[in-house]
Amino acid sequence: MKFESGTRRKAIEYEKDLVQYWKKHKTFEKSVEQRPKDTAYVFYDGPPFITGVPHHGTLLTSIVKDAVPRYWTMKGKRVERVWGWDCHGLPAEVFTEKKLGIQDKRDIGTKISLEEYITTCRDNMVQTGNLWEDTIDRIGRWVDFRGAYKTMDKNFMESVWWAFKQLYEAGKIYEGEKVLLYCTRDATPISKAEVAMDNSYQQDTDPSVYVYFKLVDSDEYMLAWTTTPWTLPANLAVAVKGDIEYSLLQCAGKKFYVATEAVDRVMRDEKHQHLAYNVVKKIQGSELVGKHYEPLFADRGETAHRVLDAHFVTHEDGTGIVHEAPAYGEEDYLLCKENNIPVLSVVDENGNYTEGQWQGQNIWDVNKEIAKSLVAEGKALKIEYIRHEYPHCHRCGTKLMYRAHPSWFMDIDGQRSLMLEQNAEVNWFPEHIKHGRSEKTIESAPDWNLSRDRFWATAMPVWKGVDTGGVEQVKVIGSYAELKELSGVELEDYHRPWVDDIEFDLDGVHYKRIEKVMDCWFESGSMPFAQFHYPFENKEKFEASFPGDFIVEYVPQVRAWFYYLSAVNNGLFQRVPFKTALVHGTIAGNDGRKMSKSYGNYTDPNELMDTYSADALRFLLLGSPLLGGEDFSLQDKDVQDVQRKLAMIWNMYDFFTMYAAVDGWEWDGSLDDPLEKLQNPLDVWVVSRLHQMQTHIVQHMDAYNLPEAMSEVLPFLDDASNWYVRRSRRRFWKSEDDGDKGDAYRTLHYVLVRLSIVLAPFIPFLAEELYQKLTGGESVHLLDWPAIGAVDDLVLDAMAQTRAVIEQGLAARMQKSEVEVQVKVRQPLASLTYTSEQRLVDFYESIIADEVNVKEVTWQSGVKLAVSVDKNITRALRREGMMREVIRAVQNARKQAGLQVDDRIVLHLLAGDTELQKAIDEHREVIQAETLTQTYAEAGEDAFCTETTIDGAELAIALQKA
Ligand SMILES: [Zn+2]
Repeated sequence: MKFESGTRRKAIEYEKDLVQYWKKHKTFEKSVEQRPKDTAYVFYDGPPFITGVPHHGTLLTSIVKDAVPRYWTMKGKRVERVWGWDCHGLPAEVFTEKKLGIQDKRDIGTKISLEEYITTCRDNMVQTGNLWEDTIDRIGRWVDFRGAYKTMDKNFMESVWWAFKQLYEAGKIYEGEKVLLYCTRDATPISKAEVAMDNSYQQDTDPSVYVYFKLVDSDEYMLAWTTTPWTLPANLAVAVKGDIEYSLLQCAGKKFYVATEAVDRVMRDEKHQHLAYNVVKKIQGSELVGKHYEPLFADRGETAHRVLDAHFVTHEDGTGIVHEAPAYGEEDYLLCKENNIPVLSVVDENGNYTEGQWQGQNIWDVNKEIAKSLVAEGKALKIEYIRHEYPHCHRCGTKLMYRAHPSWFMDIDGQRSLMLEQNAEVNWFPEHIKHGRSEKTIESAPDWNLSRDRFWATAMPVWKGVDTGGVEQVKVIGSYAELKELSGVELEDYHRPWVDDIEFDLDGVHYKRIEKVMDCWFESGSMPFAQFHYPFENKEKFEASFPGDFIVEYVPQVRAWFYYLSAVNNGLFQRVPFKTALVHGTIAGNDGRKMSKSYGNYTDPNELMDTYSADALRFLLLGSPLLGGEDFSLQDKDVQDVQRKLAMIWNMYDFFTMYAAVDGWEWDGSLDDPLEKLQNPLDVWVVSRLHQMQTHIVQHMDAYNLPEAMSEVLPFLDDASNWYVRRSRRRFWKSEDDGDKGDAYRTLHYVLVRLSIVLAPFIPFLAEELYQKLTGGESVHLLDWPAIGAVDDLVLDAMAQTRAVIEQGLAARMQKSEVEVQVKVRQPLASLTYTSEQRLVDFYESIIADEVNVKEVTWQSGVKLAVSVDKNITRALRREGMMREVIRAVQNARKQAGLQVDDRIVLHLLAGDTELQKAIDEHREVIQAETLTQTYAEAGEDAFCTETTIDGAELAIALQKA
């Protein structure tokens, strides 16, 4: 194969062409299919939410989801990559509601039929899915979009039903009532994990109020404290702690109890002034337990309005006496249940009171008003405003409430130890996630609320009926066939509302579906098997691909998708469904803040890729601290910087093709390691360095440490370009091939092709373009990862020592002392002496002489490397230095005169002093050769003339084309 010069293309050109090329030639499909099925490397794609648009964060994940599978494909694995879509759940519904102008849940079924609502949800999911493909293509990610699974697919949902039934029958799913975070706009419980993941806590200022509860048949009160005045209409008890001391205070004609330790803090007004009071007596909390008090609002019957003993009460907050509304607090709920106090709700699903003086009003609207009215009526001592982090709905922003809500739960507690055990089996990167974030998530996870009171999701496959004895019966369905057998009904679509219409009779009981739908995280957690419609289809395929080899997502997914995958699959299969989990950090904007359109702190990814290339963006991100789980601020200039450094590859390519074209050098088609056949230590060195870098990549890619794997790439490019090619230039200039020139070609070609192969997983476009241009091959991505070639340690050591001597030699030249002056690098010096254990052979010493510009290199035996330079400049050396300056001045003049590099010239030099003239006269032949001077002669009228100064002497130059 022969080469042409000037064949380099711009990144934007070849990147866009290659996307089409790969599609046309089905390169991705071929790369998968050429690997046997029994070498599967299983990658699970965490589906992005379909309503989102691709942004830097999703691109980052996509880049990793591309680089790692490409690497393992080259290593001989069959890595199928199928896109997935998360289609269900609250985000999709909020998205649809915005489009339809729906204000709250009550509009669904009234303003718009449920049927129309669901159909709109589905249509939106189909439309927005198409936005992604272009951007994912542009970043170079290979993934099968056409075979993408969707969580709203009929088959996917059937696998989810199957999983639910399996877990239910194993006793791992139960129905119960718990106090949960709840969004009143969306009228559904929200999981703490969801709120934590999107960091939906906000700083709120809320009133807290100190309320008097009058003990029955007494003139004494309990002073209780609450931060949620809106829950007071649902008050059913107050709680103290039996083993702490309470003081009965007399203040402004009223006697009331406060925990002794809290008295000083409580008895100050808003200006922190002490209120006047007397301590009447002190008693233990246990003496208060069991007393009855008069209801603040409605009377809730005999069991209510008692003082209870609660372990969670402390004197550190409030008064040491706590108001209890069991429907609206987790601890309250458990305490009241224990004490047989019924749970009472005064608020509907939209957060409006269903009774009393605030009936029909929203809890947050009257929260402050309730507190104020109690103070005004003398029923409360005071109000204090507190600032705290309070959870808001991660989707609609509504302030959340806690409320007791009947739900279906998965028993996490029962499988916690298994999950912990399995978590320890995972290869986490970075490793600290294992016993850090992941373990802590599992340790503290509550039972999982699987049910949502919504519409657009997999329907919960639970039917209920009441038998003749009045006992509730439950039937959980695990497949569409099972449902058909019972009901005779088969549907095209098992979403609500259609599935709600299916009813059946069994053993004399009439069953109807409960209205609840599934938490969409249960679907995400089911993707390893549901994507294959397991166990209804693809049984073998699933079993062979479980657990998966590799997953990657950003840090918050440790608490979300990774956790839910683990929960579902440990429940079903008693094992964690992934072997390696890579966790990356978050990309911040150029000011270090969260990327935000309103901050204007980032450039659109497509623009960035068009300006600097997709490869540069990939390279920067893959090599950044992000892949060590840390956050990283993305600066455009860093992408630009990477692009410039990667351009070293193209500069070497240009150099190679330019000379190969001139010399007609031909490549013999071999990609074999040439090391053994190479003679010139420069060639041996650069090939060894390349093989060293490849070893480094393999070592760290196998350990999923991407930044470390890539850390040697740019240093190698610098070595290859600024050392190997620079030192080898003259070898390509030679007119005759003495064998060495051929070796130089073979070496540089080998280095560039091998680079294209080992960089293919990271910068697939540049790698492909380079590979095709240098080999004419179909695709670098169809190659096997090459065996690591030989490394010549002796040459590596010698070159390292050579470069160290040069570095110190140049530094010595630059050093100024009292008697010495700084010496220009062009001024030749007499000698350099280095001290080391072993003498370098002539080849290296001549490199030193050339680089440091000394006439002679001498060696002294010694333990430590030391370098000294003889800076005594003799008259002869000085004249030689002047000669170098003259040559440089003439070269500049040639450029200014607009001459071509190979134009021969007529030259006339006129020196302003005798020393300079002598320097010119003594070195006439060298000057002539270096400046392509044909003859020295007086210049003609159209000659180019210029003047310069050398060592204080004037030099006039006149030249023209010969
Ligand atoms: Zn909401």
